[in-house]
Amino acid sequence: MSDNKDMELIDENGKRLDGREFDELRDIKIEAGILKRADGSAYIEWGKNKVMAAVYGPREMHPRHAQEPSKAVVRARYNMAAFSVPDRKRPGPDRRSVEISKIISEALEEVVFVEMFPRAVIDIFIEVLEASAGTRCAGLTVASVALADAGIPMSNMIASCAAGKIDGHVVLDLGKNEDNFGEADVPVGIVPNTDKITLLQMDGNLTKEEYEEAMELAIDACDEIYEIQRDALKVRYSTTLEDHGEPDDEIEKIQEEA
Ligand code: ADP
Repeated sequence: MSDNKDMELIDENGKRLDGREFDELRDIKIEAGILKRADGSAYIEWGKNKVMAAVYGPREMHPRHAQEPSKAVVRARYNMAAFSVPDRKRPGPDRRSVEISKIISEALEEVVFVEMFPRAVIDIFIEVLEASAGTRCAGLTVASVALADAGIPMSNMIASCAAGKIDGHVVLDLGKNEDNFGEADVPVGIVPNTDKITLLQMDGNLTKEEYEEAMELAIDACDEIYEIQRDALKVRYSTTLEDHGEPDDEIEKIQEEA
């Protein structure tokens, strides 16, 4: 967010710079099961963002003093590659990546049945390969698919999306310039079906009415994203059947449904 109003974000036809409507998401593609050696994995392209997630576990937590006697620890690590942004990013953790790792871990702990795995850890590595605003939402969304791909018992996946304000208008899913030069950005993560909120942050300022409008936009979009997450798992499942030589007609049926 910036207080410098040095960029018009909505053109004279009332369209956003990339031609989107106010309530339109960027294109999203998700693929599940991309890494052979991880217990679960997934990859997402969300506009110009490219983010990968790998899940390992549940496995015994080391160091042992970090173990929780009655539940598993869900440990997400968000990392932005040095080459993910136009000006090379200094490699390694920084305040921002520690914050994002924490909020993603806490969001996912809401849906994983952690009581089933005392003293264990479930590691989720989120690697941002290309960043263009909204990477925490993309990271949380793709990590949920990777957890499901790993067969981790969960009540549901989490879908995540941001809404915000640009040039005085409440809009969905801010792009890079909108994030930089807009007035507010509100990343939201929900458990679809129940609409339980597991992630909510706000950068910038909104009135109560604008905030409510932004939340409605983001929650509706999360339902759309949830469909894409489920489709990725259905396709993954059909591929697994292919690997095991199941009958072709069964695979076709699943692919049609996906
Ligand atoms: P999010 O990616 O969740 O929107 P931010 O609002 O903190 O998180 O960042 C917005 C965007 O700013 C990022 O997606 C990325 O494109 C860019 N960005 C973040 N950190 C850096 C950095 N250290 N160097 C260059 N660009 C960055």
